[in-house]
Amino acid sequence: MKPVIALVGRPNVGKSTIFNRLTRSRDALVADYAGLTRDRIYGTVREENLDFILIDTGGLTDQTDNMSDLMRKQAKLAIDEADLVLFIVDGRAGLMPSDTDVAQQLRSDGKPVRLVINKTEGEQREMVAADFYSLGLGEPQVISATQGRGFTELLEEIKVCL
Ligand code: GDP
Ligand code: MG
Repeated sequence: MKPVIALVGRPNVGKSTIFNRLTRSRDALVADYAGLTRDRIYGTVREENLDFILIDTGGLTDQTDNMSDLMRKQAKLAIDEADLVLFIVDGRAGLMPSDTDVAQQLRSDGKPVRLVINKTEGEQREMVAADFYSLGLGEPQVISATQGRGFTELLEEIKVCL
């Protein structure tokens, strides 16, 4: 069985952009507004010595409307299926309260989690990372999904985790 990796995080942090880059597809819709991805989307990533299933999810919020509930359920299903969770945060927005909530939830789920900071083009690694250490998820991967920054390192890290 191929390992399964789930992309989890708030809406609009760039999960679908990361999904498309890693799967070399345009299967996941990317948009400038929150909440476009509602279901789970599956893709395959094949790199040297690396072959896994990637799941894109709609995103987790602390809101309590029907759409948020639906997306939360989908994310939960993806996390249950996953061997590894990539928790995506937005380096430009900085640490948000709902990031802390999601981190808490992921820790209680007990799945292996790697923290990934997206939208970091033009930023110094240390500066972006500093904001997120308080999540207690260890050393983050610092990437830019639109520029492709940090993807070699991210794939290396995934290899180590699987
Ligand atoms: P999702 O809701 O988490 O799936 O986020 P999307 O992938 O739909 O992206 C939300 C918005 O952020 C889109 O306008 C993307 O083009 C933009 N975005 C994604 N990755 C990056 C990045 O690395 N840098 C910047 N500046 N914008 C990004
Ligand atoms: Mg999306």
